[in-house]
Amino acid sequence: MFWRAQAAVEERRQQSGGRRGDKGAHLLRGLARCSACGGPMHIIDKGKPPKGGIYLVCSANRRNAGCGNAQAWRVDKLEEALLLCLTSFKTKSFESLNGNVVDQDQKVDAIRAELDDLNRRNKVLIRLAESEDQQAEARFLENAQEIKIKKRELKAAEAELGTRRSDPGNAARLVEILRLSTDLFKIEGEARLESRIRLSSLIRRIVDRVECDPVRGAYMILQIDMKVWHVTSPTEGAFAYQIEVAPWGVDVPPRLLFLLAKNPADSARDAFYDGKGGLLMTAEGTKSFPSPRHLSTRTNG
Ligand SMILES: [Zn+2]
Repeated sequence: MFWRAQAAVEERRQQSGGRRGDKGAHLLRGLARCSACGGPMHIIDKGKPPKGGIYLVCSANRRNAGCGNAQAWRVDKLEEALLLCLTSFKTKSFESLNGNVVDQDQKVDAIRAELDDLNRRNKVLIRLAESEDQQAEARFLENAQEIKIKKRELKAAEAELGTRRSDPGNAARLVEILRLSTDLFKIEGEARLESRIRLSSLIRRIVDRVECDPVRGAYMILQIDMKVWHVTSPTEGAFAYQIEVAPWGVDVPPRLLFLLAKNPADSARDAFYDGKGGLLMTAEGTKSFPSPRHLSTRTNG
């Protein structure tokens, strides 16, 4: 009996050892940022759970380098919330609308047609130049220069087309994220580490950063830059989000902020909106919460 108990303890220790080993490859590595100073988050190990655990804290705050954000965030809770947010949406939810293969294919075709024209002119001009027509010679050289530039343009466009063709897109990434995150709880050791590294790189292709704000909570940020996100409703649950637009005159692209909490409490939702209003998305539709005046007097920003 004693031995069996001892073995169970040992097994559990090894398992938690494996989990603790995760800190080297936590999913938020390089993604998590402090909302107050914009700096990176530092990982700290407070010892064995349930009392301890692995936490993220603002690196600048930790070094006493002038940031007031002293909140510590449990890494496992944050990871779970991030995965839950990403996997609760339809896989097509975070597909970008441009940057697609068809557009690029057409672009390559157009450049090829232009190059064909230039080459045809080249044949005519070379015959004229051979007849020692000086003007024709100048035009021939000019045309040859254009061909050179056009060829370079074609090469770049074809390379971009290749990249887009080989890119599975965010829908495929989300399918893989869903599969990997489901398996994550069943595997241990080396395979688990590999899965986490893969997951981390997949998430990074979709999510720009995760900000940890002591008042607003933790939220993920999707960049609206070259990409236009076609965000559709979650398959289940409610998620709060906000479209963050830079003040008038500031040339920064807008961003999509998603609170990392499924079915957030009203208070958490309002804290996240930060007096600026926001939206709540469910499978039934989207509800908007306009900016209430009494909430817009936050002073600690
Ligand atoms: Zn900070």
